[in-house]
Amino acid sequence: MGVCAWCQKPLGRPRARFCTAAHRQAAYRARRHAEAAVLARVALYQITDELTARCYALRMALDEIVEQRDPAPGMHTYMAADVPHLARELIRVAAVADRRAGATWSQIGDALGISADAARARYGHVRLVTDQAEMSGPMPPAGSTP
Ligand SMILES: [Zn+2]
Repeated sequence: MGVCAWCQKPLGRPRARFCTAAHRQAAYRARRHAEAAVLARVALYQITDELTARCYALRMALDEIVEQRDPAPGMHTYMAADVPHLARELIRVAAVADRRAGATWSQIGDALGISADAARARYGHVRLVTDQAEMSGPMPPAGSTP
């Protein structure tokens, strides 16, 4: 017989992993929180790569335009038009990633030059696309073996 995987208290029952249902659920929640933090960092990688690729494409287009000396009308604006959307998306995902890594709304607000309440109002409701598939699993019923 081992110890509870949550509190390390010696276990009385054979093949049990947790001393109580509450500790099994606490361990489940902690695991879910850790998974959510990883998903936020994955999303942050994706949006960063997308923004980098967009800026690189704009840079390449500028080089071509310089060589041609005859850019298509509106080309610069067209190439730059999507960047603010991507940058807003990057900040949204960064706020989620920071929250899931344990940052307070006050710390996130400070980084953005806004109050904790404003940060919470702006980003508190944000859900990531990557959350849907991974995070929709049901909570195991009390008493089940995880
Ligand atoms: Zn325990």
